[in-house]
Amino acid sequence: MRINEHYAKLPASYLFPEIGRRVRSFAAAHPDAKVIRLGIGDVTEPLAPAIVEAMHAAVDEMGTRESFRGYGPEQGYDFLVEAIRANDYKARGIDIAADEIFVSDGSKCDSGNVQEIFAHAAKIAITDPVYPVYVDSNVMAGRTDAAGADGRYPGFTYLVGDEANGFQPEPPSTPVDVVYLCSPNNPTGTVATRDQLTRWVEWAKRTDSVILFDAAYESYISDPSLPHSIYEIPGAKDVALELRSFSKRAGFTGVRCAFMVVPKGVTGLDPEGKRVALNTLWARRHTTKFNGASYIVQKGAAAAYSPAGLAQTNAQIELYMENARLLREGLTAAGFTIFGGVHAPYIWLRTPAGLTSWQFFDRLLETANVVGTPGAGFGPAGEGYFRLSAFNSRANVEEAIARIRKAFG
Ligand SMILES: *Cc1c(COP(=O)(O)O)cnc(C)c1O
Repeated sequence: MRINEHYAKLPASYLFPEIGRRVRSFAAAHPDAKVIRLGIGDVTEPLAPAIVEAMHAAVDEMGTRESFRGYGPEQGYDFLVEAIRANDYKARGIDIAADEIFVSDGSKCDSGNVQEIFAHAAKIAITDPVYPVYVDSNVMAGRTDAAGADGRYPGFTYLVGDEANGFQPEPPSTPVDVVYLCSPNNPTGTVATRDQLTRWVEWAKRTDSVILFDAAYESYISDPSLPHSIYEIPGAKDVALELRSFSKRAGFTGVRCAFMVVPKGVTGLDPEGKRVALNTLWARRHTTKFNGASYIVQKGAAAAYSPAGLAQTNAQIELYMENARLLREGLTAAGFTIFGGVHAPYIWLRTPAGLTSWQFFDRLLETANVVGTPGAGFGPAGEGYFRLSAFNSRANVEEAIARIRKAFG
């Protein structure tokens, strides 16, 4: 038996295990230190009451013979698909058909799995820095050689996000087949404007490319002029798939529910040059390899769209975004140059002169007992930067800011 040798191309130490190792070793040496974690992008507020209530009721339904349910529709229950269509799309003037929505158990899986429907030879463009799943899933599929000394995989087209472009790179000038975009962005916390997304959609139409648009943080957008969905851009239904998740929108990181929109207008070429709808391929893939998200979970997700669910989850997002505002102000007062944190729960800061992102990680841990995420973990262009997350209690965020100002201000 031979293994998939492409796995050997992945870096030996994944970012978060290495962070965990350093934090454990620090805590062992300093047992009295109260470490505050602003590292991993995970929500901290408990599930909203309207969601808990809906899930309790769904468990009760499952507990009687009359209302018990076994396997559900692989693409998702109608009650959830219709809530998605109405609230996320129709309310913004976008018409998405029910069979263009695929409910799943997470956007991480969707963003990792979607590459299966592209040719092995497909040219992939990714931004740098980037959400690592887009990179690693394509490395595993064998679309690259081993990473070079610069940390880059030959085979990918890298689109560098930097201070000059506000961490929102423009479309590539060399041909690619697929590009992964994430806005509002993890890790940089920046957001794409309507003009920028329009340039992406026009580029994709001109070059016959496909955009994978990860909108996991769309509900954190506060400026009404910014698009929440790529389908707000004319023509996007011919070139873009959109990934959405209840993880950050409704605190579902531990509950698990997401969906991907695959409009029937998005097509690719078969070996004979015939156009095939990606929707057909994804429907086949999804129904073959996935048996549907849990009924209980989908009932909880649908409750996030009820008036009470919306009010309660929006209040959670406001809490996180007020944390982000406090972090932005506190870090600026401490002398840091920062980006993001206005339409996303992440602050992207420039590390102080002379410190790499891992050196700054150690310095922050030692002097302020605060954990963040080194930018280098998100790609070579992340070196020199550092991500802080606004997902925490107000008390912890205020304490973290006070300690950082004391240590660096
Ligand atoms: C958190 C996050 C997701 C959501 O992933 P789930 O698997 O749905 O929890 C997707 N994309 C990005 C960039 C994220 O940060």
